Amino acid sequence: AQLFAPERPNSQGFDLNHAPTLARIEAARTPFRAASWRAAPLLAGPAAPETAAPVTNPADAADHPGTVAAASAADVATALAAARPWQAPPSERAAALNRAADLYEEHFGEIFAILAREAGKSLPDSVAELREAVDFLRYYAANIPAGDPAGVFTCISPWNFPLAIFTGQIAAALATGNAVLAKPAEQTPLIAHFAVTLLHEAGVPASALQLLPGDGRVGAALTADARVKGVAFTGSTETALKIRASMAEHMEPGTPLIAETGGLNAMIVDSTALPEQAVQAVVESAFQSAGQRCSALRCLYLQEDIAEDVLRMLTGAMDALSLGNPWLHATDVGPVIDAEAQGTIRAHIDIARHEGRVLKELPAPQGGTFVAPTLIRIDGIADLEREIFGPVLHVARFKSGELDRVIDAINATGYGLTFGLQTRIDDRVQHVTERVHAGNIYVNRNQIGAIVGSQPFGGEGLSGTGPKAGGPNYMPRFCAPDRQAAES
Ligand code: GLU
Repeated sequence: AQLFAPERPNSQGFDLNHAPTLARIEAARTPFRAASWRAAPLLAGPAAPETAAPVTNPADAADHPGTVAAASAADVATALAAARPWQAPPSERAAALNRAADLYEEHFGEIFAILAREAGKSLPDSVAELREAVDFLRYYAANIPAGDPAGVFTCISPWNFPLAIFTGQIAAALATGNAVLAKPAEQTPLIAHFAVTLLHEAGVPASALQLLPGDGRVGAALTADARVKGVAFTGSTETALKIRASMAEHMEPGTPLIAETGGLNAMIVDSTALPEQAVQAVVESAFQSAGQRCSALRCLYLQEDIAEDVLRMLTGAMDALSLGNPWLHATDVGPVIDAEAQGTIRAHIDIARHEGRVLKELPAPQGGTFVAPTLIRIDGIADLEREIFGPVLHVARFKSGELDRVIDAINATGYGLTFGLQTRIDDRVQHVTERVHAGNIYVNRNQIGAIVGSQPFGGEGLSGTGPKAGGPNYMPRFCAPDRQAAES
């Protein structure tokens, strides 16, 4: 009877089209407009961190939302010695994670403020990020598999989802009873520190969850010790390969590496697609979060017959994007994460400009690490040597009869994260989706924003080791190997 009412325990989020809701958000985050936070190691033993360095707002070089004290080699040693798997029964672990979810929701104003000022997140992106983090906590709490903890888990997370992915990895490891050594991205320690404080307040013991901010050296130390029984990593394919090599050298054979890495994601728009729908999906997929999602659209394939029409509408839609300070409600596209990222992306655009391949480029605001949304013409996805992690969309054309060649080219990249298809031919949906190798395939919609519990997220090939986060196969990988062997 309840055909269209599946159980959806996802968090409610905030309706940003509702003026009273916006006013409520404004009131809750305004006290934190100029606040300052501090990130430092949170250890179950005495800390001896390195001296604190300022954290800079990517949208405003003059704004410093806080300081970070990186973990020292001594801190890593302390954390490894003090880590203790979480002995509480599953129901108690679940209760603490659910309490943490409630605390995250309660502190939405402060969280939105940190996400904007440390990570450059627009308000809609911050809302989505908080929702996803809360969903991960509740989903893993509700679905704890039977089995023993692996032991100590290292969780290394990225700056692009500094709350959601940081929390997701930790929640899965804690739900299954492991001790976690959490190494947040170097660029986003403040939100990580705040999150761990809330998890501790919710009842997660200090010895089961320790925080070790710092750069790649901290991550390297945490993935080169035989006391670590598993690693969860989200970030670049290159770093994942380094971690794998280090684990092979220093850890027990068979220690699980759960890696979610990059993508070279494509969307195919054929001549039967609804242009308005396709353009909206493309703008969201390529430019939301300033293109800094591993799921983001990088290469758009337009069928020749409609390419001109779609490009005209797309460039018009780009003109309507508002760029700037992510604190402002009107901002669609904020900064990229830091000057290094800005330099890499701009160098890529400069080459395309030099070769006369830039089809559209918006003006970029000053004062922060902004990169304006840009459209670049290419012949095909094979022209892209690597993932450009920013608001840059590449466009190629194909003729009728070339569809299978396009699919082969997409598969030949070796990545396989997300893929989008816009068509009104049912047979074609089946034909294409059966052939494309991608973890998450989206038809006639955007290709970002997978929802915990309904759209487990993860890729294949160079895009990750599986299993998908926010789905039923994820947590068993955090359990002791005998349990995994018994499953297979
Ligand atoms: N889960 C996110 C999405 O579906 C992407 C995760 C990432 O960028 O690492 O958009």
